[in-house]
Amino acid sequence: MDSTDRDAALRAIDPAWQSAFLGELVRIESINPETWPGGSGEAAMARRIAAELEALGLQPRLDEPAPGRTSAVASQPGTGPRTLLLEAHTDTVQVEGMTEPFSARVAGGRMYGRGACDDKASVVAFLGAVRALRQSGVTPPVTVTFAATSGEEFSGIGIRALMKDGLRADGAIVGEPTRLDVVVAHKGVLRSELVVHGRAAHSSAPAEGRNAIDAVAAILPALQAALTPQLQTRAHPLVGAPTLAFTQIAGGAGPNTIPERCTVGFDRRLVPGETPESALAELRALLAAMPLPDGIRAEITDASISGGPVGADPDGPLAQAVLAGARRHRPASSIIGVPYGTDASHIALYGVPTVIFGPGDIAQAHAAVEWVDLAEVNLATAMIVDAIFAFAR
Ligand SMILES: [Zn+2]
Repeated sequence: MDSTDRDAALRAIDPAWQSAFLGELVRIESINPETWPGGSGEAAMARRIAAELEALGLQPRLDEPAPGRTSAVASQPGTGPRTLLLEAHTDTVQVEGMTEPFSARVAGGRMYGRGACDDKASVVAFLGAVRALRQSGVTPPVTVTFAATSGEEFSGIGIRALMKDGLRADGAIVGEPTRLDVVVAHKGVLRSELVVHGRAAHSSAPAEGRNAIDAVAAILPALQAALTPQLQTRAHPLVGAPTLAFTQIAGGAGPNTIPERCTVGFDRRLVPGETPESALAELRALLAAMPLPDGIRAEITDASISGGPVGADPDGPLAQAVLAGARRHRPASSIIGVPYGTDASHIALYGVPTVIFGPGDIAQAHAAVEWVDLAEVNLATAMIVDAIFAFAR
């Protein structure tokens, strides 16, 4: 490794630029409109980031999978064959209950505002690393692709479109507030519905009908009893066992009618080794094997939301490069698993080794008072520069 190049790139990290640019991004409202109608989406963020990439002499590409849901992508060629993807999302959650969502006020070394931590700090940390390479004139040992993507807070529309279009890498770092630890595993999710069909009748003659609510009352505990022991055997060392939770229920047409239909929403969390498809097939098979009363039919609908689990090899070249980069500046950084999901699901789905890493604390994300420690953003940038050089070996 050329430590002269690495040191030159580290010296080119500019805390004044980082803080000013983060402030600019926080002042751009980029609420995810899929979940919060009226949100502006990510187009303005993508344009501002693309302008910065252009100013660095790169050729950014804008990708717009749906109107106003723009992502910005650019690549810095490297000397070696490997490619490292740095991905962070530009959308935010709503700003309800916040007194100053877009002020980007700085006090006590912290910047305040919606997205300051989740996830604009990671955007700046990653872009700051690319900028340091450009400003120092250092050609990195691996090609570095930077992607500021739309839509993470709901469906991952931005990264899903880029991956579908053929974006690939030998490793990916997804920026999220991990407190500078290296996340190699998180659970995936499958959300869907159990639908039970019976037959309506007047409630004064229940035997004339087939009560869908009664059937659901029997099916739910039976499903849990059949599945839970199996889920326990799949516990992952970093994220624990997979789970099934029933989360919503609706059924019945009126107080004097035997209900002909009852639906139950559920949330199934997946661990590495499981897929949304395998979890769905498993539930359908258990249901099919269950004896149901005459005249009752039950089905599980296709997934309404799904995202695969992430389970990168903690001893693999990517995790070890990011860990080495982090520990060079903060020896306490370690390899961990987390309960929440990220865009890493959509990248790992294509076989790209993916870890999650970034400045800030998930406790700040989505909170009424959101902030990030500016020194931590600069530290993350230095760690990413080091990780880029470590990933070459
Ligand atoms: Zn996030």
